[in-house]
Amino acid sequence: MTAPARIERRYSTCPHDCPSVCALDVEVLGPDRIGRIRGAASQSYTAGVVCAKVARYAQRVHHPTACCIP
Ligand code: SF4
Repeated sequence: MTAPARIERRYSTCPHDCPSVCALDVEVLGPDRIGRIRGAASQSYTAGVVCAKVARYAQRVHHPTACCIP
């Protein structure tokens, strides 16, 4: 059994043209792979929660038929 890889977390901002402009906590699993995305826990507006569209970004950008990262 191997130890789980260390998950790095980086802060970002939602790239969508949406007035909420949510602050994000993004799991970085590798140089070209992200994991879960959550609303930034440190911001009162997001408080660890993000909309369903962005919460599933990893499935979207890493899907076998995805052609690029939006
Ligand atoms: S995370 Fe969702 S609600 Fe927040 S700015 Fe992006 S699209 Fe809007």
